Amino acid sequence: MNASSAPRSATTRSARHRRPWHTRTALAITTALACLPALAAPAYAFGPGTHTEITEGALQGFQKKSLEAMAAGDLGDGTWGAIRGSDKGTYYPYQTRYHCDDADYLKGGHYPRTRQQATGELLACVQTAVEEFHKAVVAADGLVDSQGGINTKDVNLSSRCKYNDQPGRAKCEVFEHLGRAWHVIEDFYSHSNWTDHSDPKQAIGLTNPPGLQKTTPAPFFTLRAYSNQSTATWEAEATKEIDKTPDLATGCAPQEYEHDDPTHYNDCTGRINHYDTNGKGGLSKEGSRATIDDNGKHAVDVATEDIKRQWKDFQAELLATYPHGRGTKMICALTHDTPTDATCK
Ligand SMILES: [Zn+2]
Repeated sequence: MNASSAPRSATTRSARHRRPWHTRTALAITTALACLPALAAPAYAFGPGTHTEITEGALQGFQKKSLEAMAAGDLGDGTWGAIRGSDKGTYYPYQTRYHCDDADYLKGGHYPRTRQQATGELLACVQTAVEEFHKAVVAADGLVDSQGGINTKDVNLSSRCKYNDQPGRAKCEVFEHLGRAWHVIEDFYSHSNWTDHSDPKQAIGLTNPPGLQKTTPAPFFTLRAYSNQSTATWEAEATKEIDKTPDLATGCAPQEYEHDDPTHYNDCTGRINHYDTNGKGGLSKEGSRATIDDNGKHAVDVATEDIKRQWKDFQAELLATYPHGRGTKMICALTHDTPTDATCK
């Protein structure tokens, strides 16, 4: 498991552009529909702007521009909302821990990966989210000065935030890190079997992994609590939670690097796959898995519930970390488009 912080420089490897959810979904749905009788249209599949749908559904009380800076898809001018940041550029799209991929495991037989390896991948993805949560809390310090006054330049949204790992306006930095943390979590529900039902018409196997049918968020994404614990402590706690669901899996993603090594893409042979391949189902709700028992909707519903929890926890952490009214003002600065000392009290 490698859960180190992301480097600031992009890899020089030529970028194989990661198709965004909606493009990949459209292809997957087309393929899936081609194999289904006319009446069996999918009830709900991850489609255009699913990250946006989840994030907007979770964030209440944000004004328009602030919500857009956090949750929008492509804005048409080469920028996007923070929640899409990890699907962009030449570094993040290829890192499994930013998308909760490669935690694949299937009991019985001779599966090429162990339960321990799968759990290690899940812990790497939790750690990524915890680190980004912490960076967002630190970046919030720049929103409000030590006297409790709003740093006007740091909250100005008159030009778009660019989520490119460069230091800039504090508000953009907070959103950038929250976007990376929350993207991991949203992807977990899309890419794992946490909320899924398996296909009752097929035997359980590589192309029909078990479904855990969970209706509440995963207990091991308690970013706020974990960010205040030592790595050893929270890893032990998260492992205990993951151990309660030994069938928990995400899929192997062939376009991502194995162990962050840019010279090796994942070899997904004989493993639960992320994508539908050769007419066989993958685990991601971007594909045919979404059409079983409304799995796509189940994943969106629980992901939205989780991001609601994450936003609540983030606000609580700001209030605890920045006393004497600073935390309250930071929350106002994040949710309001043109916050001032007069409008944020
Ligand atoms: Zn992703």
